[in-house]
Amino acid sequence: MTFKALLVDKTEDGTTHASVEEIGEDRLPDGNVTVSVEYSTLNYKDGLCLGPGGGLVKTYPHVPGIDFAGTVDESSDDWYKPGDKVVLTGWRVGEVWWGGYAQKACVKGEWLVPLPDGLTTRDAMAVGTAGFTAMLAVMALEDHGLTPDKGPVLVTGAAGGVGSVAVAILAHLGYEVAAVTGRESTWDYLKALGASRIVPRDDVAETVKRPLETETWAGCIDAVGGPMLARILGQMKYGCSVATIGLAGGANLPASVIPFILRGVNLLGIDSVMRPYDDRIRAWERIARDLPMDKLNAMVHLATLADLPSLGADILKGQVKGRVVVDVN
Ligand code: NDP
Repeated sequence: MTFKALLVDKTEDGTTHASVEEIGEDRLPDGNVTVSVEYSTLNYKDGLCLGPGGGLVKTYPHVPGIDFAGTVDESSDDWYKPGDKVVLTGWRVGEVWWGGYAQKACVKGEWLVPLPDGLTTRDAMAVGTAGFTAMLAVMALEDHGLTPDKGPVLVTGAAGGVGSVAVAILAHLGYEVAAVTGRESTWDYLKALGASRIVPRDDVAETVKRPLETETWAGCIDAVGGPMLARILGQMKYGCSVATIGLAGGANLPASVIPFILRGVNLLGIDSVMRPYDDRIRAWERIARDLPMDKLNAMVHLATLADLPSLGADILKGQVKGRVVVDVN
């Protein structure tokens, strides 16, 4: 039996090349659940794994795709049987394990979650790791006391995957959402998702000059990191929290400790990859409840396996808007 997969290979000079190929099922990795993949998606990390690897991919040829949703074909795991609809995000699938850019995937049953009630496999991939992580960030802020009456919540990298879903969820929950973006062409899109204020990237891009600025934000979901995150820490209201997700603007944090020790600001780290099962179920239940499907659909672009190499390059340049859903068939 063969299936279609996007294989990335590396040549001796270190360059990578991706192409859609028909390959045998005997090449699948050694998991205990085989899934007929219906949809996958595109995240920032997929851009790395489709191209230079970013140190994430250890062996080639490789099938990227850190997320997938589909139907169980075969299973020796007690929790899953053929016909079950399942979702996978994270666990380093698509990085050190073959991922979702193929019609078949073989993984460990403990990495899967059942498709949440009320979502299709396509919806689940419109959410993907980006949206799942946005929901984890919302939950972390709520666990640290955020409520809509506390004031506006800032979302950085707002027109990207994480940011778009974060804006839609927060607005649906009744928060006043301020969206940081570097692309003026996305302003209407962000307002349609529920942002009530647009903050041009340049307004928060400068490195910290004063460790404390006017107390402005009751919460922040940050996909950018770097100098922007450092700057925002000094704009947080007393006792409020920033959920840090990403590094689209840099991994260094040239920050002062003053916001932490004089304003009691919290910096909450959000990891989606190794997140335990129970948290995953709780987050997916919240997604099914608190992410309006019309908003989700408005941020989706459909793509095929063949489109992925160029889309991967685009996402690394910060040029993808919203979420990409990949129909692998
Ligand atoms: P996207 O590329 O879709 O979104 C990132 C957005 O950040 C861009 O759309 C752009 O938004 C903004 N941006 C890009 N470059 C810069 C820059 N140099 N300075 C400031 N802003 C910039 O990626 P994702 O949403 O998929 O991921 C965002 C980040 O979150 C990535 O770093 C990713 O690795 C990380 N991540 C982490 C996870 C975790 O478990 N912690 C899970 C998922 C993602 P705009 O044009 O609106 O300014």
